[in-house]
Amino acid sequence: MAANGTGAPEGLRGAEAAAAGPRQERAGAGAGAGGLALLGAAPGAPSCPHGPALLFVKMSQGKEEGRRFYACSACRDRKDCNFFQWEDEKVSETRLAAREECNRNRQPSFTHRQNVERYKSFVLLPLSKRKFCQECQQLLLPAEWEKHCGHQFLCDISIAQLKSPSQLLYPLENKKTNAQYLFADRSCHFLLDLIIALGFRRVLSVGTPRLHEMIQSKASQKEDFSVRSLLLDIDFRYSQFYTEDEFCHYNMFNHYFFGGEAAHETCRKFLYQDKGERVIMVTDPPFGGLVEALASSFKKLMTMWRETKKEGHDNQEMPVFWIFPYFFESRILEFFPSFSMMDYQVDYDNHALYKHGKTGRRQSPVRIFTNIIPSMIVLPVEEGYRFCTICQRYVSSGNQHCEICNSCTSKDGRRWKHCALCNKCVKPSWFHCNNCNCCALQDHVCERTEAGCFVCGKAGHKRSTCPSLSLTKTARQTDKKKRQKTPKKVKMGICKKSAMKHAIFFRKRIKNKKKRCNLPC
Ligand code: SAH
Ligand code: ZN
Ligand code: ZN
Ligand code: ZN
Ligand code: ZN
Repeated sequence: MAANGTGAPEGLRGAEAAAAGPRQERAGAGAGAGGLALLGAAPGAPSCPHGPALLFVKMSQGKEEGRRFYACSACRDRKDCNFFQWEDEKVSETRLAAREECNRNRQPSFTHRQNVERYKSFVLLPLSKRKFCQECQQLLLPAEWEKHCGHQFLCDISIAQLKSPSQLLYPLENKKTNAQYLFADRSCHFLLDLIIALGFRRVLSVGTPRLHEMIQSKASQKEDFSVRSLLLDIDFRYSQFYTEDEFCHYNMFNHYFFGGEAAHETCRKFLYQDKGERVIMVTDPPFGGLVEALASSFKKLMTMWRETKKEGHDNQEMPVFWIFPYFFESRILEFFPSFSMMDYQVDYDNHALYKHGKTGRRQSPVRIFTNIIPSMIVLPVEEGYRFCTICQRYVSSGNQHCEICNSCTSKDGRRWKHCALCNKCVKPSWFHCNNCNCCALQDHVCERTEAGCFVCGKAGHKRSTCPSLSLTKTARQTDKKKRQKTPKKVKMGICKKSAMKHAIFFRKRIKNKKKRCNLPC
């Protein structure tokens, strides 16, 4: 039962939570009529076991409605964290004490420091005594075997296994919280090779345990391998395998270091090395996460890096690879105008949906967003990518340069076609609908104007042409799709509709896939 008992809306990731790709789930009932908007981190916000909660407000018809409330930043499922508090709620001393107690109880049974000591003892054990409890996801010391009696053990844990924790631990596929989808070897190698080719020496791995592991493992095998990595992740199981200089327990939705100031300092030091030169941040967040919450944390990490540069490189940005589905392009660019989307399709091991198209499997919708000059991101020609000399970037084999748009316009790898009426390229499966005055699937339901605008509620126009939004248009946005012209605050509530298209699209696919998928997804 929800501790608050207020009947407050569930599913607190606002509009984008509704964009249920395979790594995200629709927001709960609360997102129904108008959706929920994130107001962000607020000073003095109460904390749940996942650090400071975020402030949300329910939206209706583009207007803020009702009270604001705090909810867990990391979990969109009440089952994972049921923290809830109205912004203006008076919380009694007793309830505060109970909450603190609850936050303490939900912390892991061993500290990171203890886990490091345990690891040291573990590697000294003879192979026959190295057991891993699959149920508790824990390396066991002999004295603890008895406590885990009846649990499934993995035995004879080799050093090689200890160096690949992402293979030993089961992926936490819970879509509403961890959404742990691990890179396929092909993609992981590609990323690392690219990082090396670009001359980077340090990788801040935010939610990329497999990339971190590949780097750590190479560094321990080859003396001349000079790349280092620091993993920031909310999955505390990794603290069993890495020292406090290699892993920080971190929440990327509220920029919270569970290890306090010491962990913060570890991260800062990592970025400060070599005067902040040759460091890149690589992140692959759960797709259900609100882009604005992620962007705010990433900006804080980027600021942390910038502070290393004392000699007036003020306008420089820490290089970043943000791995995310292509349909979030406009959202990401809104927060990071210097980023561009690469055509490379990122593949995953433990999800059938994210496999590369070339081998006859479905094409992955996941891309790399980066602030590095696109022409420097060399994509593998043997996988069909080619260089477009006009666009000055590598593109998918199916991505044709459109003379009219003067750009390689495909987002999904298929060849798109130019619509003269829309004055842009559209998906090959779309046709121009005169009723809607835009391109859509042949069997779409026409958007009716009688229903009233979703933004202002007035009849006679749709939200895409709402006059109340035209004031907020900026030069940058003029070329973009109409729905992008919505002001930020409003948008979080209302872009749900297009997000839902993805939601439905993906859910159908998952259903079909599930029959064949033997992973717990
Ligand atoms: N493809 C990556 C894994 C991406 S899955 C790889 O193979 O390395 C998403 C990752 O983000 C998981 O490792 C998950 O534990 C982590 N994560 C999920 N929620 C998080 C949060 N709130 N803060 C930090 N990390 C989080
Ligand atoms: Zn929480
Ligand atoms: Zn081109
Ligand atoms: Zn075109
Ligand atoms: Zn139509």
